[in-house]
Amino acid sequence: MVFEKLETITEIEVQYTTCSCLAIHAGKSAAYSIVDQSIIKIGGVPVIPGSSLKGALRSIIESILSESGVDVCIPEASIPKQIKQRRNVEEYARDLGRLPPCNQIKGDVCPVCKLFGAASLSGRAVFLDARPESIIVPIKRTHVAIRRDTNAQSDGSLMELEAVDKETFYYFPKLINI
Ligand SMILES: [Zn+2]
Repeated sequence: MVFEKLETITEIEVQYTTCSCLAIHAGKSAAYSIVDQSIIKIGGVPVIPGSSLKGALRSIIESILSESGVDVCIPEASIPKQIKQRRNVEEYARDLGRLPPCNQIKGDVCPVCKLFGAASLSGRAVFLDARPESIIVPIKRTHVAIRRDTNAQSDGSLMELEAVDKETFYYFPKLINI
């Protein structure tokens, strides 16, 4: 295993404003919860997980570079299971105009994987969780599912979801090792 020398750490602080309701759910709520799906919180504070920010930014950068003619791979995690089972990953990647997933062992690492990492490679960018700039109280939204045959509410489908309202300010520092 080889460890590169860490020479510089650059910290960039960014402020985000939600343009609409934001809901990054934590999965199934606890049995005692009054909402069906609660948002992710740390210490009771609604946060945007660093992994969500990293994934969103990675996806955008992949698209921009790919459309600009730069060879970038399709990440292993984004390939549907059926494709992997049929072992036609290379054909799937080629159809999307991408390289197959980067393989550090073979030495093939695209610029996106160098920055964000891959299954067997640590990336250079670290994204911390974004925290709200002030105390915020999540809003609750009620949803129902509509039956496709009658266009009426499906029985037992009333759900209450938590979200963060629009125009909420978040900030997060991200660290990049250059
Ligand atoms: Zn790659």
